[in-house]
Amino acid sequence: MNQNWRGAVVRRLLLLVGACLLLGLITGEYAWVLAGGLAIYLGWTLSQLLRLHKWLKEHQPDEAPPDGYGLWGEVFDSIYHLQRRDQRVRGRLQAVIDRVQESTAALKDAVIMLDSDGNLEWWNRAAETLLGLKTPQDSGQSITNLVRDPRFIEYFERNNYLEPLDIPSPLSNRRHLQFHITQYGNREHLMLVRDVTRLHQLEQMRKDFVANVSHELRTPLTVISGYLETLLDNVDEVNPRWLRALQQMQQQGARMQSLLNDLLLLAKLEATDYPSDNQPVAVDLLLLSIKNDAQALSAERHHRIHLEADPHLKLKGSETELRSAFSNLVFNAVKYTPDAGEIHIRWWGDEHGAHLTVQDTGLGIEAKHLPRLTERFYRVDSSRASNTGGTGLGLAIVKHVLLRHRARLDIASSLGQGSTFTCHFPSIQVVRRGQ
Ligand code: ADP
Repeated sequence: MNQNWRGAVVRRLLLLVGACLLLGLITGEYAWVLAGGLAIYLGWTLSQLLRLHKWLKEHQPDEAPPDGYGLWGEVFDSIYHLQRRDQRVRGRLQAVIDRVQESTAALKDAVIMLDSDGNLEWWNRAAETLLGLKTPQDSGQSITNLVRDPRFIEYFERNNYLEPLDIPSPLSNRRHLQFHITQYGNREHLMLVRDVTRLHQLEQMRKDFVANVSHELRTPLTVISGYLETLLDNVDEVNPRWLRALQQMQQQGARMQSLLNDLLLLAKLEATDYPSDNQPVAVDLLLLSIKNDAQALSAERHHRIHLEADPHLKLKGSETELRSAFSNLVFNAVKYTPDAGEIHIRWWGDEHGAHLTVQDTGLGIEAKHLPRLTERFYRVDSSRASNTGGTGLGLAIVKHVLLRHRARLDIASSLGQGSTFTCHFPSIQVVRRGQ
């Protein structure tokens, strides 16, 4: 109440009391007249209060308040203005919400909001077409009950959403979806789902093309290599001028053959997400045989190769795939370590899982190359690779095999000092003796 209204109320009360006193003087009943006057004032105030209450409870949205007198009129008007202001703010907010909802509804990508337990809170129209969510029945349902692919459940529960997840749509195997999850606020999740069927088809075409070309080239190459071998076996009948050329042709033929083999292996690894066989592999024995092969590869270069492997740790997975990944790492260590260098192979476990470390005292790799080392055909130095007869696919194969075994590769290296390649396998892939 501002000062004016306070003055007016006081004046009115004084006037009432004055009038009552005057009437009391005339009638001689001061107390009764004063009590009567105050009762009338109280009754009027109560009636205004009841009008206000009735209006607040029953009024239509735009209905003006009843006319009030004096201070009550001011109270009615103020409440009315407050209500109008509130309505305008609400209208503006609603318009913003409507626009956001309209724009997300127009999106081709699904937008889904989940609470901290993964229960559905809100989603747009595309979520209904891409994932088959139903409004409003699915509200409050857990997302893992609606998208039941084990890869999604594992991805969602892992709580590490740096990489997106690509899986077939729950509605049709021919459609491929990419899931991006971001955590915000109080561990709530914002999930974006894109239809990547076209990209997936292109990627599939690329893989098929590489696999088919590699496969088709294999037969002619085998024939050429076979004839070259026969020619070189009968070296006495060959014109000496051609000898060096033939030897080089045989060398390059062998290189092409290992390139094709690596390309075919990569195509096979890319064809499925997980290896078909998932038997416990005795890694210690596997590493022992790789060590013997590495020793044979080293031959006169006299590398000192040490193996330290925990025989109680087995790894669930495909022995053939693990053999090609581990031998790539060990053979690289032999290839890129000068004669008589040292190579340590260690297979060990801890509370995080099991780990394979291949450490050498070789040439080392500059830090700038490390992030791109597992890309196909990426080479630190092409002259280095052509000397060693590498295909440039070895570490790409390692990366793929590890991905299929839920593992990751760490590379630490410094130029001239040597390199350490470590494969980290999570506990779910490891079988310890006694389990
Ligand atoms: P490559 O068949 O050429 O060896 P990889 O994919 O196995 O192809 O390796 C990629 C590149 O990484 C190699 O060309 C080589 O320069 C580098 N590299 C791999 N392993 C080592 C290592 N142990 N020491 C030094 N450089 C390495």
